[in-house]
Amino acid sequence: MNHTMSTPSVASQSSDRTHYKMYIGGEWVDAADGEVFDTMNPYTGRAWATIPRGRAADAERAVAAAKTAFESGDWPKLTATNRGHLLRRLADLITESAEHLARIEVIDNGKLINEMLGQVRYIPQWFHYFAGLADKVQGAVIPIDKPETLNFTRREPLGVCVAITAWNSPLLLAAYKLAPGLAAGNTFVLKPSEFTSASALEFAKLVEKAGFPPGVVNVVTGFGAEIGEPLVAHPSVAKVAFTGSEIAGQRVYETAARGLKRVTLELGGKSPNIVFDDAELDNAVRGVISGIFAATGQTCVAGSRLLVQRSIYEPFIDRVVAFARTARMGDPLDIRTQVGPITTPPQYKKVLDYIAIAKAEGATCLLGGKPATGPECGEGQFIEPTIFGDVDNKMRIAQEEVFGPVLACIPFDDYEDAIAIANDSPYALAAGVWTQSVRRAMTMSERLQAGTVWVNTYRAVSYMSPFGGHKRSGVGHENGMDSILDYTKIKSVWINTAREVPDPFVMR
Ligand code: NAD
Repeated sequence: MNHTMSTPSVASQSSDRTHYKMYIGGEWVDAADGEVFDTMNPYTGRAWATIPRGRAADAERAVAAAKTAFESGDWPKLTATNRGHLLRRLADLITESAEHLARIEVIDNGKLINEMLGQVRYIPQWFHYFAGLADKVQGAVIPIDKPETLNFTRREPLGVCVAITAWNSPLLLAAYKLAPGLAAGNTFVLKPSEFTSASALEFAKLVEKAGFPPGVVNVVTGFGAEIGEPLVAHPSVAKVAFTGSEIAGQRVYETAARGLKRVTLELGGKSPNIVFDDAELDNAVRGVISGIFAATGQTCVAGSRLLVQRSIYEPFIDRVVAFARTARMGDPLDIRTQVGPITTPPQYKKVLDYIAIAKAEGATCLLGGKPATGPECGEGQFIEPTIFGDVDNKMRIAQEEVFGPVLACIPFDDYEDAIAIANDSPYALAAGVWTQSVRRAMTMSERLQAGTVWVNTYRAVSYMSPFGGHKRSGVGHENGMDSILDYTKIKSVWINTAREVPDPFVMR
């Protein structure tokens, strides 16, 4: 496969590989010990680039660069309005590079070109939106209950923020964090997943081109335990914005707690997609398919539990199975492909393990349930779109996140039953409801335990709307107006305007 070349500063090319560098303090550097690791193309099964294997020394360098940039130089002198201008320039550069970035993501990640083109063309909106908010973050004058005293608040940036992202949507997840955080005046060290690091390094090239002062955005690469942990533990880091698995999220939370850092955690889910018998069934079928088979089910919000009202259960499931059977697997760079490969070898094993668990638990495999190996699958690790019927919500296949194209179908009797099954989950990230009743849409959206509820739609996200999980799906929210405030701290300023300081032994 012929890969688009990057400029020499970001990466160099030998016969069949691109060799990337990290971006620290405005310079393109190797890992301190010079180590690299291969990054794979999930469709060809071949290594296509090398990535620096950063460790504690590189975390140290990057945090030091971010700290220097936060405290001195041009960044802290920049007005909020001018920070907005810089973010807009970055947004425009992303737009110009959208096709290149989308292609890199597909090669590195195996996500479909169709999906990635849409996603990367949408990402600039995060930077435009938060650019607009940059100079609207303001404190308040408090009508304080003391004479001859002025009391007001300032909203100040936190300092050095660490952004750690999962492999499934590397640039989008980075935008969720960097756009509000930079708009608020912070500096960043971004560490993408070791499975999909290339796009973040390509993004750093645009940060450099946009003219951000050195050290404001640093991108380091490597493994969670080797560089992620030292970043989270670093005493100069004020906030950690993390997207990933529940297990790593817990670890990040514990490490960050020792330093009393602020944390947002965007973790996994086991989201219910609930179909009532009054739904527009054609739309509901499409919504169910999009919920679990788009992005090969490798999305945190996957609608991996399908709850269907018993009165329509069998015919509806038949329709979902018939539709899923038509899904075209193949090369993710082919615009016609609908289901791509599983991105990483551990994930492939995990999905197959869960399929075996579901069968052992007594669920009925209605479709798929095995690897796909046709010529259209290249050398990729594909799994057939898989649907299990007769699932009991207590089964592991209904309780645990699979993160792949595996749907568990569960019948319910009525509204109360649907709520009980939907909420019987350790997770609470998202939920879908399919009904024509406004009353039911309203009551379901109130009673469902989920950070996001979609009614008659699924998988909609926007820079404007808060996104986050409840219960074990996470801590805090990203996106929306309030998310910029999460990158600020409040300072209360008291100014005494009296001529004389009163009795020093009495509290004012
Ligand atoms: P992961 O937890 O294995 O890795 C995520 C990131 O954390 C990677 O960059 C990794 O290197 C880093 N990391 C791992 N251990 C670390 C540690 N101890 N300290 C610091 N960093 C560490 O997750 P993954 O397999 O890349 O992603 C899949 C998971 O992410 C799924 O559970 C999915 O639901 C979740 N996810 C959640 C959202 C959301 O917004 N809620 C979005 C996308 C993915």
